[in-house]
Amino acid sequence: MADIIVVGAGAAGLFAALTAAEKGASVTLVSARPLAETASYWAQGGAAAALAVDDSPAIHLQDTLAAGRGLTRPSAAEVLTEEAAARVRELQALGVIFDADRHGELALGLEGGHSRRRIIHAGGSATGRRILRQLSADVAADPRIEVLEGRRAAGILRDGEGRAVGLTLEGGGTLTARATILATGGAAALWSRTTNPPGSFGSGLLLARHAGAALADLEFTQFHPTAVVGIQGREGFLISEAVRGEGATLHGPDGERFVDELSPRDAVARAIFRLLRQTGAPAAYLDMRMVDPGRFPNVVSALREAGLDPMTQRVPVAPASHYVMGGIVTDLDGRADGVEGLYAVGECACTGLHGANRLASNSLSECFVFGRRAALAGLDEPEPPSVTAVPPPETVAPPPTRDTRKAVWRLAGLERSAEGLNELRDDPHPLARLVAASALAREETRGAHARAEFPETDPSLDGRHTVFPAGSETPAFVPWL
Ligand SMILES: Cc1cc2nc3c(=O)[nH]c(=O)nc-3n(C[C@H](O)[C@H](O)[C@H](O)COP(=O)(O)OP(=O)(O)OC[C@H]3O[C@@H](n4cnc5c(N)ncnc54)[C@H](O)[C@@H]3O)c2cc1C
Repeated sequence: MADIIVVGAGAAGLFAALTAAEKGASVTLVSARPLAETASYWAQGGAAAALAVDDSPAIHLQDTLAAGRGLTRPSAAEVLTEEAAARVRELQALGVIFDADRHGELALGLEGGHSRRRIIHAGGSATGRRILRQLSADVAADPRIEVLEGRRAAGILRDGEGRAVGLTLEGGGTLTARATILATGGAAALWSRTTNPPGSFGSGLLLARHAGAALADLEFTQFHPTAVVGIQGREGFLISEAVRGEGATLHGPDGERFVDELSPRDAVARAIFRLLRQTGAPAAYLDMRMVDPGRFPNVVSALREAGLDPMTQRVPVAPASHYVMGGIVTDLDGRADGVEGLYAVGECACTGLHGANRLASNSLSECFVFGRRAALAGLDEPEPPSVTAVPPPETVAPPPTRDTRKAVWRLAGLERSAEGLNELRDDPHPLARLVAASALAREETRGAHARAEFPETDPSLDGRHTVFPAGSETPAFVPWL
């Protein structure tokens, strides 16, 4: 038996494991896929923290609340913005080297929605890769952490009182611990066009739900405006917003510009979506010929490897599903609502931090802030009794089929209607059905969620989250503080 089980080896899981081990705990870290297949590894932009002299947690909080369009849970945003800077310093102490300016100070970038320079990067646009490389090396070197790579959590083990006491593994085997921390990543790959790795289909959400935890806010999916389309081997490859920040422009099939490229992410994504719908064209075109290629070496080299030179040719792009704001409902220490002993952190969790629209670069910071909190809280859990709990069935969290993913993209994409969502409610995949039910219940347009029949925001739904209690397929609107 370990003190803590962590499921997932992205930024949230690795940081939670290291935090627990640093406090002397024994940790078992289970990861289904190799590191390069985590969303964390692919993160290009960076992590947000109020580190500049003209910045403060209060200003970062205001920006986070504004991005969330009336649905951000203020207490969660306060925790993130207060604690992010300290976690950055810890990452540095763990050996992560962030980009510095010519005075040796952290180089802080500016991104859409942030009113101050507060984005830290590593290796330019290789931030996720650099952080993960360091954290995984630290994990591998830590004798208190046992890593089970290539193993998939199949279900949550519970004792007679319903408390989580560990998990079962696909292919056989059980693990027990005081606390089980899910860090299984997001669900954006439930949509067929996505920037996410295939494993991000929300398996942790289904594991937690089967164990009795509540899920929330599944209608809020952020679509990234500029994911590569029609280039073999690079389908869905994300071209960071920062490229537009440096002057890149967007053009329709007629060569004309059609949107203010610096508008918020959801506005740009919808403008491209509508243009493609009107014209029937497969792509809009990103012109980044005026951008310094040295600023985005991995974008330029990835496209060149695929046979397109962005320094001489325009890049075909279209929106793709990128980030799901909803997930397993947790408190501010990552405790899953409804199941004692179970925790969720990172993209699989829903603290309410991101509201209806995530502020760019807050998600990596979330992994560190809440990953640490959950690890510390988990250490206070009692030792599980030596029970033989009933193992859950093997099919708790099936991957979506190709047909489901296409249906989710078509019926719960950038603009939703009751007709399409009702059709999706009959999908065989349980998470697809929950996304449909949430999106159907929210009869308004807010942040990343757009309903064709309800183009306005309904102020009576401010601060109200769509929550599925365990077992229910009908969400309730619940206010969170
Ligand atoms: C292309 C791209 C660029 C991004 N850029 C940024 C950015 O610049 N800044 C920012 O803040 N955010 C960014 N994001 C979002 C951010 O990267 C993610 O929100 C964050 O990394 C999620 O981390 P995580 O640890 O929660 O999950 P992940 O990094 O996705 O890790 C999930 C882990 O869980 C494992 N797993 C899943 N299910 C199981 C199971 N059943 N059993 C065992 N293991 C399992 C996976 O194998 C994996 O190890 C980006 C995302 C993408 C896709």
